[in-house]
Amino acid sequence: MLSSGGEHVQMKSLEFMVFRRSQAEELAKSLGFGVSRGYLTLNGRTVYCQCCGKALRPARLGNVLPGSTIVYCDDPACFAEYVDKYLWE
Ligand SMILES: [Zn+2]
Repeated sequence: MLSSGGEHVQMKSLEFMVFRRSQAEELAKSLGFGVSRGYLTLNGRTVYCQCCGKALRPARLGNVLPGSTIVYCDDPACFAEYVDKYLWE
């Protein structure tokens, strides 16, 4: 729903990791991911978004399913799938 002063969009607080874009690479590394030639890797293999299949750059990391190596990019459509698949079962 649009309102006249639609600048203030509240982020919903759901159960997923929240981090700043600048922290994404650090976070990924703390979870065991590597970075090679600008892309996230795991065990030497490039990591892809679970939804759209795009190779993930650290800055485009959207969500990591806690306790797993399942990652999503920051595309809103992919985020929607993540929420639908893992948070609302
Ligand atoms: Zn994606």
